[in-house]
Amino acid sequence: MRFSHRMDGLPPYLFAEIERKVFEKRKAGVDVISLGIGDPDMPTPAHIVAEMQRQVAYPANHQYPNNRGLDEFRQAVADFYQIRFGVGLDPEKEVFPLLGAKEGIAHICFNFLDAGDVCLGADPGYPVYAGGPVLAGGAAVPLPLRPELGFQPDLAAIPEDVTARAKMLFVNYPNNPTGAVIENDFFEHLVEFGRRHGVCIIHDNAYSEITFDGYIAPSFLETPGARDVGIEFYSLSKTYNMTGWRIGAAVGNARVIEALWRLKTNIDSGMFQALQRTAAFAMSSSQQCVRDMNDIYRRRRDLVVGALAGIGIKVTPPKGTIYIWAPVPDGYSSASFAEMVLEKCAVVVPPGSGYGPSGEGFVRISLTAPDERIAEALERIKENL
Ligand SMILES: *Cc1c(COP(=O)(O)O)cnc(C)c1O
Repeated sequence: MRFSHRMDGLPPYLFAEIERKVFEKRKAGVDVISLGIGDPDMPTPAHIVAEMQRQVAYPANHQYPNNRGLDEFRQAVADFYQIRFGVGLDPEKEVFPLLGAKEGIAHICFNFLDAGDVCLGADPGYPVYAGGPVLAGGAAVPLPLRPELGFQPDLAAIPEDVTARAKMLFVNYPNNPTGAVIENDFFEHLVEFGRRHGVCIIHDNAYSEITFDGYIAPSFLETPGARDVGIEFYSLSKTYNMTGWRIGAAVGNARVIEALWRLKTNIDSGMFQALQRTAAFAMSSSQQCVRDMNDIYRRRRDLVVGALAGIGIKVTPPKGTIYIWAPVPDGYSSASFAEMVLEKCAVVVPPGSGYGPSGEGFVRISLTAPDERIAEALERIKENL
């Protein structure tokens, strides 16, 4: 057999490696606490599960769905965007279902990139911002996010020859892994950048509903002109603890949505209709479940920030996401600290460098474990420092 060269530039997926190590330790009987993957530990809210059970029973939901998505689903996304963000979307042309945001991030690269083309992606960032472009045959160029700039990229610092070859750009706020939120006019600058250089701006909006302390996250599409230059990926995964269900949506620029639709008709056969109907139900029902979940994450956030302070690691409590982005103690690299924590404490924290070169010097602590497990993990780390 002769495999494609396309795969050669593709790094092993960060969590695949971590999962392998954890699996081995657990098999050996070690009590591993994983604060690794950002996968909510709490169940999908009961009213959503009950609706899915109802929908699964209807034979009309069992056949091949249309890639375009049910009117009911697209309308529910449009309604959600209107109510939540004040953004009016045409459900016919500006909303499109995705089998999770991850799928959209990977596939949209095939819409834009030919050999030699560049995709700019937040660094540190969601690993698919780099893997997707490589798979599509383009190049991924990291856009460094620095703490002193509020973890926003300096667009003016991108070299001209890179900008000239760039056709797309990925960013994400509230941000995984840093927990940063947008608090100034960065989205306006992005629109201007996209317009001036003909770059499609893709905002990954996986965490807009996971926020604390009264902070309310915007949609990129609230920014004037955003729809002319780009799209946003919305995901139900984190909002409703539905990571395993695989559902999200692309919203925004109609030409981009059309291109993505055309691509995906050749790849998948749409989304289970029972799931589309249940998602529509989740988005149009009471959002109290989200507020309740945020209370739990906020409590865990404060627990982690407090425990880190106790071992001399200062972090500003993030206003959103399910992560704490913590600098590693002196004398450690990201990888050596993550390694020490795994080997000596049996605690999984992914090294920041796994999210891109600018993640060096940090680890990401995920708030997706019960309070007592989080507390124990930090206690173990304290004892081993
Ligand atoms: C979790 C996450 C996603 C994946 O969302 P799915 O809809 O489950 O595919 C995308 N982007 C970021 C930044 C995430 O953290």
